Amino acid sequence: MADCLFCKIIRREIPGKIVYEDDELLAFEDINPQAPTHLLVIPKRHIESLNALEDGDDQIVGAIVRRAAAIAKERGISGGGYRTVFNTNRDAGQTVFHIHLHLLGGRGMTWPPG
Ligand code: AMP
Ligand code: ZN
Repeated sequence: MADCLFCKIIRREIPGKIVYEDDELLAFEDINPQAPTHLLVIPKRHIESLNALEDGDDQIVGAIVRRAAAIAKERGISGGGYRTVFNTNRDAGQTVFHIHLHLLGGRGMTWPPG
């Protein structure tokens, strides 16, 4: 997608602090971190939101979630805990319409979220 911010990070048209990359995924630091660890895990293929997922997307969604868990383990926050969030559309505050899984950790968090 030409105008998508995260597609531009994938294409290196804008900078990103990339911490993991493979053929199908990218993980990078959130530009406005809300916790000591705040990364975004995204598919390289442009998908707007969870609402756009199709039957064939189960593998990529699984890969995104498992990558977040692997990065949490690498960073030493798996035992203490962490939060993973997909925001979808207006009421959840989605601002970038390319699916991204937030991985937040390194501090205690409250529930319910705001
Ligand atoms: P959401 O509100 O769930 O759509 O989350 C979008 C996230 O993208 C926010 O946490 C932003 O801080 C983050 N973000 C926006 N622009 C960039 C960027 N250029 N590099 C890294 N993260 C970004
Ligand atoms: Zn995109």
